[in-house]
Amino acid sequence: MDTIRLGRTEMMVSRLGFGGIPIQRVSEDEAVAVVQRCLDLGVTFLDTANAYTTSEARIGKAIKGRRREVVIATKSASRSREGVERHIQMSLERLGVDYIDLYQFHGVSDFKSLEIVLDPKGPMAVLAEAKKTGVIRHIGITSHQIDVAKEAVKSDGLETLMFPFNFVTCEPADELLPLCRKHDVGFIAMKPLAGGALDCVTIAFKYLFQFPDVLPIPGIEKPSEIEEIVQILEQPREMSEAEQCEMQRLRDELGTRFCRRCDYCQPCPQEIPIATVMVVNTVLKRMPLERLLTGMFADAVEKGANCTECGDCEERCPYHLPIREMIVEQVQRFRAAKRQYEKGTSS
Ligand code: SF4
Ligand code: SF4
Repeated sequence: MDTIRLGRTEMMVSRLGFGGIPIQRVSEDEAVAVVQRCLDLGVTFLDTANAYTTSEARIGKAIKGRRREVVIATKSASRSREGVERHIQMSLERLGVDYIDLYQFHGVSDFKSLEIVLDPKGPMAVLAEAKKTGVIRHIGITSHQIDVAKEAVKSDGLETLMFPFNFVTCEPADELLPLCRKHDVGFIAMKPLAGGALDCVTIAFKYLFQFPDVLPIPGIEKPSEIEEIVQILEQPREMSEAEQCEMQRLRDELGTRFCRRCDYCQPCPQEIPIATVMVVNTVLKRMPLERLLTGMFADAVEKGANCTECGDCEERCPYHLPIREMIVEQVQRFRAAKRQYEKGTSS
């Protein structure tokens, strides 16, 4: 497989990466097999996170004896020095490695969080020290919010940016990607299939492969999924006229009901985490159901039921999404999945 240079990290990585969220859903043997299939096909960039439950340990098992073949990226959502320090140790143990190639601040989507992670006396001090001792090699950030991401890139304190990018969420192509090029920050495209909302794999990857320095990291659950994408990479990548029309049709259809998780709609007077509620359908497809039905995600979705339909959020959403209507649908969808699961486990 071709390789690309990941910005100022100077790391050469496979043209296509591996996203480690969906391997939480399958058995351990299946997870290990799918990661190994990716490696055999030439995928060398593996992304995971401290927060993805079993993902790191499963990747660790799969790469045993093959550490030198891969570039491992993981992340911490902690904003404290102690938390990040603890997460690095956990990741090293779960992955069974003595260094991590790319360590990322996870989900930095508001300016307050950005300020915390960039503060040289905050968690950045822990990463700087880990970099000095060789425990981590490079430092990056992940975000869903374009203005925060731009500031992060401009800070020149980070080597990579992971941001949603696909033919529906195509805004990064306008300013964010050129900015990354200017600052030599490696661009990692999360959600190349819009978190499961896009079924047209060929069009989605032909779109992204137009950008020679963008590294897409699709979440992979089955060997057949990575095989299909690798085939797209190996064939002529130009979109046919029919594919271009289909892409436009999907943009028009999805664009009006597709949440970018940018949080411009906040604050909600009812403190509803709107972006979380809006993606219930895609999260239900990608994560193990039993882990979603109680805990933080379930609590966040249930808050959606408190919507008073004031409409403040819709005035602020740059994509004019019918948020009130979508919240009702998503809460109903979540409750139906929960009922179905409870019915299945009680019978
Ligand atoms: S509802 Fe609109 S403003 Fe809110 S997170 Fe989604 S896309 Fe952004
Ligand atoms: S319409 Fe609902 S979600 Fe939107 S701001 Fe008002 S209460 Fe919050």
